[in-house]
Amino acid sequence: MVPLRIDLYSDTQTRPTPAMRAAMAEAPVGDEQHGEDPSVNALIARMCALTGKEAAVFLPSGTMCNEIALLVHCRPGDEVLADRSSHIIHYEGGAPGALAGVMVQPLDGVRGVFEAAQVKAAIRPDSRYFPRTRLLAVEQTANLGGGTVWPLATLQAVAAAARAAGLATHMDGARLMNAVVKSGTPADDFAAPFDTVWIDFTKGLGAPLGAVLCGSAALIEQAWRWKQRLGGALRQAGMCAAGCLFALDHHVARLAEDHANAAALAAGIARLAGVTVEPQETNLVFFDVAGTGRGAQAVADAARAEGLRLTVMGETRMRACTHLDVTAAMIPEALAILGRAVRA
Ligand SMILES: *Cc1c(COP(=O)(O)O)cnc(C)c1O
Repeated sequence: MVPLRIDLYSDTQTRPTPAMRAAMAEAPVGDEQHGEDPSVNALIARMCALTGKEAAVFLPSGTMCNEIALLVHCRPGDEVLADRSSHIIHYEGGAPGALAGVMVQPLDGVRGVFEAAQVKAAIRPDSRYFPRTRLLAVEQTANLGGGTVWPLATLQAVAAAARAAGLATHMDGARLMNAVVKSGTPADDFAAPFDTVWIDFTKGLGAPLGAVLCGSAALIEQAWRWKQRLGGALRQAGMCAAGCLFALDHHVARLAEDHANAAALAAGIARLAGVTVEPQETNLVFFDVAGTGRGAQAVADAARAEGLRLTVMGETRMRACTHLDVTAAMIPEALAILGRAVRA
């Protein structure tokens, strides 16, 4: 197989930089389960300040943040409202059903973003016939929606509609910092209407492991019990937390480069005959190759044969993702390879 030279598959593909590895190697550590790891504690303090929440818990992954949030907010048989494209529906192995015992009612948003009126319409009346609608969940940015940034006013409106009916609110902020850098809106403003919020350190922030779930002290205390039950309590996790702290210090502002690279990529893809590009806002570029007469898998295979990796999202829908390990100089080459792949 031709060596992989340009990996636009996902921002999860980033490798820790030498400087990040050095910070990790030197991290002071202790027993995380007992609250005695100084690096984890420092990360938690940073995340509380960043999101404006009272408490936080370090977890191995974003998926565990989402699932623990469902477990904390809901009882079995409850219903969660989320966009049809959401990660909890598609990529968590059915865990909302398997672990929390909840149902997810999919809302039909536009590019992953829905409106308050849709939330109001979806909330079920209090009746013994219906599941209890209990939680509203949103993704900032909306991944399968196209890396879409929810406008602050829309987030506030959907959360207000949920609260008015007694629902709890949760933000999957896997790429919250992309939204912050793109919009200039501070993370705590986006997070304010939500009871729980988390960010992922393994996406554009470039750390090898870790996500932090934030909320009130009472909610995070419950989250900690689930973390223990699920086997997520850690020991000298400070080595990983140090990578996350390094990312907060050095890898947030540079997300703007990923967005600029994605914009250049989107503009170039739009010029390819038979290819249509969805609106690009952050580091994700979705496009459709239907007009080329080729399928997404065939295009992906042809690109991979030249050292470029892309994601197949459907029969003809594809995704390219920019991140820490993608340089501006790679974009013209990626476009040249993709141009050949769609014609092959
Ligand atoms: C990646 C992702 C997750 C899951 O995070 P992991 O750290 O990979 O478990 C959840 N939600 C969204 C929107 C994501 O993109």
